[in-house]
Amino acid sequence: MRPIKLSLPELAGNEKKYCNEAIESTWITPLGPFVDRFEKDLENWLPTGHVVALSSGTAAIHLALADAGVTKGDKVICQSMTFAASANPIVYLGADPVFVDSEYDTWNMSPELLKKAITQLSEKPKAIIVTDLYGMPAKHDGIRAIADEAGITVIEDSAEAIGSRYKGKHSGLQGDYGVLSFNGNKMITTSGGGALIVPSLKSAKHVLHLATQARESTTEYFHKEIGYNYRLSNISAAIGCAQLEDLDRRVKRRKAIHRLYTELLSDCKYIEVKQNPNCDFDSNFWLTTILLSEDSPLSPLQLCERLKELNIETRRLWRPMHTQPIYANTISFLDGTSEDLFARGLCLPSSTTLSDDEIKYVASEIKRLIEEID
Ligand SMILES: *Cc1c(COP(=O)(O)O)cnc(C)c1O
Repeated sequence: MRPIKLSLPELAGNEKKYCNEAIESTWITPLGPFVDRFEKDLENWLPTGHVVALSSGTAAIHLALADAGVTKGDKVICQSMTFAASANPIVYLGADPVFVDSEYDTWNMSPELLKKAITQLSEKPKAIIVTDLYGMPAKHDGIRAIADEAGITVIEDSAEAIGSRYKGKHSGLQGDYGVLSFNGNKMITTSGGGALIVPSLKSAKHVLHLATQARESTTEYFHKEIGYNYRLSNISAAIGCAQLEDLDRRVKRRKAIHRLYTELLSDCKYIEVKQNPNCDFDSNFWLTTILLSEDSPLSPLQLCERLKELNIETRRLWRPMHTQPIYANTISFLDGTSEDLFARGLCLPSSTTLSDDEIKYVASEIKRLIEEID
């Protein structure tokens, strides 16, 4: 049996064709026809008005914060349970993160704790970064209402959630800004890349300006702002155009994998497969995740290690940012939810390349490992 991986890239079909076109046209550059086309394709797919293609999802978060006017000394609220790339760009700008805990329905930012944070902080935060963890949309209505009332910008980190919907609207479109990632392990890949969904043409122009070294003119090389080299390459965009053609099928496949795990693990009393809390939520199930009950004979770490011996890759949930050494002493609004989820959760292999038989094998091995101790 081949190794079973968490989330592998998969070819969609036209990657080589489009890359060859890009190479033959000599647009081997961080701009070009495929970059423009990829942005248009994303705008049509979502649909939305303004998308800027960038070199990574992290770059997209960085430029969303910059465009929202975040500067040194500002406070930015960020979901604690997320990948470090959600929070680090706050620090790149010299601003200070404030972490907010999760709630159990979605594992994302708790609207109640967000409200508490805004009420108790001595100054108004400049922005809120909310993640759609493992594809599950956050409680965006609640978060939007609180943010709108306080007049704070919302950045939706939907790096894992392209193809998910909340109340019928795509992830990436729930906040003022939406972040997409095309890293190798995500729903679609450009080998490395990202995109920022922005609220206006003005923002699109500013983000593009910042992403291309904030050069006022190419004849004078005049700079009024600090810029970055964050544009997506034309070759990467060519891969992205091909990958996007296959996105609908991939969303269906990830959901089918999730359904299969749900069915196969339903008779194990120690395991709860994470579900959409109700019909407002439509996760792409980028990764199927489980929670082990407190009386489970194996901890997530033990289960992960035993499965690794069988060449099955699983991973613990994102370690909450407020427990990270780099973010020690950061102001945080907590109620223990993310630490509990982290202690009990595990991500299962969810690559679209896995067959139903492989999913069945993973599920039966998980049950066997737990039940042989029980
Ligand atoms: C992958 C990821 C990012 C970063 O995207 P890159 O393209 O790898 O820079 C940010 N946030 C979350 C939640 C992610 O999963």
